[in-house]
Amino acid sequence: MIHAMKIRTRIAPSPTGHPHVGTLYMALFNLIFAKANGGDFILRIEDTDQKRSKVEYEESIYESLRWIGLEWDEGPDVGGKYGPYKQSERSELYKKYCDQLLKEGKAYKCFTTGAELEEMRLIAKKTGARLGYDRRHRNLTSDEIADFEKEGRSFVVRLKVPLTGEVVFTDQIKGVIKVPCADVDDQVLMKSDGLPTYHLANVVDDHLMEISHVIRGDEWISSTPKHVLINEALGFTAPTYLHMPLLLGTDGKKLSKRKNPTSAYFYRDSGYLPEAFLNFLSLMGYSMEGDKEIYTLDEIIKTFNQKRIGTSGAVFDVKKLDWINQQYLIDSIKEDDLWGRIKDWGFNETFMKKLMPLVHTRMKTFGDFIDLCGFFFVNNLHLTEEILTPRKVTPQQACFVLQAFLWGLEKDGWDKASVENSSKKLSEIFGIHFKKEVIPMLFATFMGKHTGPPLFDSIELLGEHRARARILEAIKLLGGISNKKMPLVQKAFEKSDGKELFTTA
Ligand code: GLU
Repeated sequence: MIHAMKIRTRIAPSPTGHPHVGTLYMALFNLIFAKANGGDFILRIEDTDQKRSKVEYEESIYESLRWIGLEWDEGPDVGGKYGPYKQSERSELYKKYCDQLLKEGKAYKCFTTGAELEEMRLIAKKTGARLGYDRRHRNLTSDEIADFEKEGRSFVVRLKVPLTGEVVFTDQIKGVIKVPCADVDDQVLMKSDGLPTYHLANVVDDHLMEISHVIRGDEWISSTPKHVLINEALGFTAPTYLHMPLLLGTDGKKLSKRKNPTSAYFYRDSGYLPEAFLNFLSLMGYSMEGDKEIYTLDEIIKTFNQKRIGTSGAVFDVKKLDWINQQYLIDSIKEDDLWGRIKDWGFNETFMKKLMPLVHTRMKTFGDFIDLCGFFFVNNLHLTEEILTPRKVTPQQACFVLQAFLWGLEKDGWDKASVENSSKKLSEIFGIHFKKEVIPMLFATFMGKHTGPPLFDSIELLGEHRARARILEAIKLLGGISNKKMPLVQKAFEKSDGKELFTTA
């Protein structure tokens, strides 16, 4: 035990997209840390962004965590005495604390308009001054406030960050962090719609839920000085912080959805074993004594030593994952059980019911089945540049088309009708032949060949996660799109006009 007080850790994902492998990674370490110290692991849903939060994504957080075998002691779906565990059900609490800060003069109403903020931003950019809010409403008189309110102007509530001094906190992984207060913006606590910002809700909840250790990814460390200040203003003792190294791609850059498959479901759908995936994730941020690489969750909990948490970025190397997965496959699945497992993965009744209508009239013999639809059951299509660039399409042009297709799908959805719609738009945007250019390019991307079962149904059946990965794979093989060109492609997509870009590529 490292503390007299009960250890309580949490993850606090926002349900704004399908679970990123980073969410699973953080959940795993929070669970390990809690269990190694006899504590509790809590799941809280941070759904204050009402526009982007979706129940469907919330469900998928539960599902993906359970896929790798993680369970939580308290959470929206399992209850607990610190509930509710969804921020959208806790609005009154945030309001109460915000009112307290206003009353004590530690926060203020700021009536600055969006246009004024934009002007501030432009001036700061021009003059090289510090970016951010210039605190113009920090010391309004009560008359000025009354006037603004009479005008019916909307307002946000901001924290009065001290103008001098330093925010100091100790991160258990990174050591002592000091930030001059002058570098911290007067943080918005409550938005004009009366909903709290992430910062306020996060701090209030960690306090009320008695979270002892906040273990989260490195990307949040820049928010921590704000959290320390909000804790201070509210008279709370801040939790202990541990900021874990980020997951990196093999290029050494932050693992990103734009370049790598980052959805946990991609790995599930590609046939990785949950135990192996969990083992792999734990290796990202931790090394076992004796450099042992294959172990169970129980083993790591029993032997956990905080000092063995890594301090620099962890490379998410799929080759390593493949190796680990193979060890599990050999050691933990008996020969007699193998077909059962493969069947459950990709040859189950539910999937086959959907696949049969697509292949029924397209085979002469059963022997044609694998040839026709083998692409559903493989992770590598062995693509070539040639097959991805029909007629006179160049590799760079094909990248543009595929990237625009991906954006279309992300915007409209991955169901058959949306897929069809997004693909039709491609010939409009780039002025290329739908049947002779777009269609073969897409067949090649998803199936590795120019003929097969119906394209749009197949993409829908392949599913968002694997379909996305195939698009990224094809773009990569074709040489990718440079950072300089990307905004031009984006513009072409948004304006539905990329003919000029296409001809010069
Ligand atoms: N809602 C944040 C997220 O989406 C939580 C970050 C934290 O752990 O404080 O990850």
